[in-house]
Amino acid sequence: MAEFITTEQIEAHCKVIRQEWDRIKHDPSPRFSLTKHPGQSQCNQCRALMDKPKVCSACKMIYYCSPQCIKTGWKTHKVHCSAFKRDGEQIPKYKAVTKQFPWTDVGYNIYGHFNENFILARFGVLGTTRRKVGYWAAHGRGVLDEDLLDAPWCNLTETEGWRLPNEFIPTLALQNPDSCPTFPPTFDTNWTSYYQWRGLPIASPAAMLLHWPLSVYACLKELGLVSENAVGARRKLTVFYVGAREEVCLIPVFGELALLFPNTDLDLVIFGETTGHALRRAKGRGIKAHRPCVFDYTAPTACGGGTIRVFIDTGNPTYYCPSRERSEHPDVIVALNAGLGSCISWQHVILRSFEFDIPFVITDYCEACLVDVRQTMDLLHQVLTRAPKSAEEIRLQPVFKKILEEVQVGDVEKVCAALKRERPGKLNAFMQPGQKGDDCSKLGPGSRNACIQVITPVTKDVEAGVNTQ
Ligand SMILES: [Zn+2]
Ligand SMILES: [Zn+2]
Repeated sequence: MAEFITTEQIEAHCKVIRQEWDRIKHDPSPRFSLTKHPGQSQCNQCRALMDKPKVCSACKMIYYCSPQCIKTGWKTHKVHCSAFKRDGEQIPKYKAVTKQFPWTDVGYNIYGHFNENFILARFGVLGTTRRKVGYWAAHGRGVLDEDLLDAPWCNLTETEGWRLPNEFIPTLALQNPDSCPTFPPTFDTNWTSYYQWRGLPIASPAAMLLHWPLSVYACLKELGLVSENAVGARRKLTVFYVGAREEVCLIPVFGELALLFPNTDLDLVIFGETTGHALRRAKGRGIKAHRPCVFDYTAPTACGGGTIRVFIDTGNPTYYCPSRERSEHPDVIVALNAGLGSCISWQHVILRSFEFDIPFVITDYCEACLVDVRQTMDLLHQVLTRAPKSAEEIRLQPVFKKILEEVQVGDVEKVCAALKRERPGKLNAFMQPGQKGDDCSKLGPGSRNACIQVITPVTKDVEAGVNTQ
């Protein structure tokens, strides 16, 4: 079970950052110096701090203090080494995403480390309270206490939610046809082009939140579910969005999808620990439905008239595992920043999506994360096909056996073939700008929604999973 930071801890951290920002904000080129270990790196093996680190000679990404630590660390590092190398080679691409925006400069400290919170501090939207910072609210374990339980999550106006100057807000109130983005949507696969299409100035930090709906879009595009030609019969698309956390604070931002899927009725059903938890508590305040609709939006006809409805599911607190009842299956399962290789509950979802051909696509922080997905699949394949060989396999097999019993894989051959399928990952041009900072080692670049991987491709005719009228 992942360790959660409490809201109090996050708020204390925000306070320190706001103070540092107040100190430097009048500098001609503000550079913060806040860092856990100023100018120092940390050994990936023994955690010693050092001024001049040695690096893994293969990937050149991981810091070590000594040849001894390199040797000891290799046992665990070797699995990820080549992926880290690839991630390292992609750093220029991450930087190219970030550099499109002038406001990302303040995210870099004097040592070159990145901290997105300085961008939020710069725009005055860093904090944990939804009433104060709207959609930007960051939460720990104490998510969705007072302010979110008072009302079903979506009652903020755009101004209250975005907390930015009006011209920086990707407004959905598009009454004036002149303000509508052109239809059908025409933009290249990069933020600059998207901003142009959307009529947003590049000075707007909206991408720091828009990467959520845009990553859903990129995932569906990867599956071939974005139709080039938006005319013709109206489509219905049901997307299960699994493992949500902070996204629950910014549900109206997903309204963007109505513009991106013209002529489509898109239902987004959100599953997540924080959402399920909140909804259970909210039941006392009048929310009775098992899967209430908490937000809906219809794009103007001039923009293609797409609709989106967002539902919250209470039944499966974190992960939705497809049942054997096919009528209950969505058209697609999407999981953003999934951590698919690091949480055991995902394996149920993976196996069922294989067996029932439910398209399943994820994003993660960097390609090195995808190595764990490969490992998980290899282990599942081993358990399904042969007896354990190594001590490690003997140790792990009971865990995987238990999962396989719970899932009751019917078509073993089909699932085995799916486990062995090649799954190349690719960078998501609509990742969150800025790198996920690591203060003390060069552990891959990484950003929210940085890379996309199709776990289960669309195998049947797309239209077959989509009701046309
Ligand atoms: Zn060391
Ligand atoms: Zn290495």
